[in-house]
Amino acid sequence: MKYSALLIALTFMGACGQQSAPPFDPVADLVLTNGNIVTVDDALPRAEALAIVADRIIAVGSNEEIAAYIGDGTDVIDLQGQTAIPGFIEGHGHYTSFGGSLVALDFRHQKSFADIVSMIAQATNTTPPGEWIVGRGWHQDKWQLKEDVLVEGLPLHDSLSAVTPDNPVMLIHTSGHAVFVNQRAMRLVELGDTTVAPAGGEIVRDEKGRATGMMRESAQDIFRAAYASHQALRPAAVVEQEMRQMIRLAGEEALRHGITSFHDLGTRFVEVDLIRKMADEGNLPVRLYMALEEEAVDMKDRLAEYRMIGYGNNYLTVRTIGEKVLDGALGTHGGWLLEPYADLPRSSGLNVVPIEEIEASAKLAMEFDYQLAIQGIGDRAYRELLNIYEREFARHPEKTDLRWRIEHAQVIHPDDISRTVELGVIPAVQGIFACSDGPWVEDRLGPERTRERGYIFNTLADAGLVPTNGTDPPVDEIDPIASFHCSVTRLLPDGSTFQPDEVYSRERALYSYTMGNAFAAFEEDLKGSLTPGKLADITILSQDLLTVADANIMDTEIVMTILGGEVRYRDGQIVH
Ligand SMILES: [Zn+2]
Repeated sequence: MKYSALLIALTFMGACGQQSAPPFDPVADLVLTNGNIVTVDDALPRAEALAIVADRIIAVGSNEEIAAYIGDGTDVIDLQGQTAIPGFIEGHGHYTSFGGSLVALDFRHQKSFADIVSMIAQATNTTPPGEWIVGRGWHQDKWQLKEDVLVEGLPLHDSLSAVTPDNPVMLIHTSGHAVFVNQRAMRLVELGDTTVAPAGGEIVRDEKGRATGMMRESAQDIFRAAYASHQALRPAAVVEQEMRQMIRLAGEEALRHGITSFHDLGTRFVEVDLIRKMADEGNLPVRLYMALEEEAVDMKDRLAEYRMIGYGNNYLTVRTIGEKVLDGALGTHGGWLLEPYADLPRSSGLNVVPIEEIEASAKLAMEFDYQLAIQGIGDRAYRELLNIYEREFARHPEKTDLRWRIEHAQVIHPDDISRTVELGVIPAVQGIFACSDGPWVEDRLGPERTRERGYIFNTLADAGLVPTNGTDPPVDEIDPIASFHCSVTRLLPDGSTFQPDEVYSRERALYSYTMGNAFAAFEEDLKGSLTPGKLADITILSQDLLTVADANIMDTEIVMTILGGEVRYRDGQIVH
């Protein structure tokens, strides 16, 4: 019934996506009413209400117009003036490693050793005996409550060991230069009162000679090795369970931030296998757009089989090869530049993956109808990629609308902008990096080159290139609001503005996170705006991102996330 009503409704929609009058108004499954609806669709930029059947938007309009779709079985959500926008699309991230970062216990915000011990005690409830419990991010200087017995400013392991008799525990210091372990871990590696620390390491001991649990520098190696070899031995079913958890947590975290689709750069075939299985089960928490990263020789025979578009009710698309990295990061002087670094004149950065290997990927992408997405951060890397893409395009003039991407694209020579337009290449940029890198970009490039080529996102969009956005999780926090804020302010921590001419308008910033990212994935007819016929992926915000004052943008809360017409996050809770 639902789908037939939808079919009839969609049949009567014009090609432009706007609704012409159907012979009757179908009954909606869900209606949002009394809202400030920002559609990102020029045909009707603002509306009060919208109607959904199954997973699609079927009508957008005034409260009165949409009331016609309300029937007996319709859920009606009164938005009470809150703002609805198309669901955010994360345009560049690393999905499973983001999930992995959520699985690891995080001690960055713990205020005492006792707090950490109680977190570990909790973790034992869900960890089978014999399995390791690992966490990271602790720093003793952040602890306000001091333990009774301290050795060199650190507690003894006893309280930790008391709650973890069955699990080896390793707590990695925020610096990575030390670990704190429990009794079970020490017994596992046969570390006792007489064990001599390896060269370059230190086993911290109390006055009686007992190891406290603190292992400095190379003394931690034996624990890390024991953990790694244990992990390698786990049965496939256990590894799968863990992967499933990471996939679920990553998706739930995305939903909490109003994200309904995620571009995942750098997926292995084995990950796609599990994700496809979860799509079959209806267990994917967000929609994924995945780019395969494998050696060219390993990809050749499998690309045809793995290409899938809109799989599992539009939850999974694999049609991209990426992201190999042509160069490194600017922060570490790895970005590959046309001229040397201002603050390291002997270096112009690094070419990481050889040109020939990128060319091999380009040939495969062309042969098997895949999009290509390669990292190019410096202006030399960007130009080399344009050259590779141009040569490959020239070999296949019959293929058009390829939308090959250059990821990050942080430094671009002005000569390459019009080339990019002509080639139809997408510089897949992330707004947040202008603010996280802004404080030191001028050191690397000097003021002239920074002004001309650095993070020139608005210049690119003015030239006609599609604006994109994202935060590269887990490299930066998954936070569209923060990236939106940076995109429209370029505000640095010291109060200055980084590249003021490159500030996006509010409309452009919202477009980049919705329609722009949809276009970069060939999904502009399916996602990115609140238009009849498109997926009902909708994010409800506590305030209007297009009009709220700059200073208040960061206060914007995600009130609700709707995915395919179902409320999946509401009032701080994931809805299952
Ligand atoms: Zn990345």
